[in-house]
Amino acid sequence: MSLHAGRLRSGWCPTCKAYTYLTCGLLLLTEQGVATVGELCWCEICDDLDDPPPLRRIDRAGS
Ligand SMILES: [Zn+2]
Repeated sequence: MSLHAGRLRSGWCPTCKAYTYLTCGLLLLTEQGVATVGELCWCEICDDLDDPPPLRRIDRAGS
């Protein structure tokens, strides 16, 4: 039994409305054949863990 990633598809992100949404089926290969066990989906912008948005600068009090 082994787990494989299916075809990668791109699309529009429902959250940020950019064309950066990716979905990827998870396929489980068994002796009986191939079964789809789930789907991964993520957005390059919303789910970008490697490059978080810069922290907002905090205005100095009184300015
Ligand atoms: Zn997004």
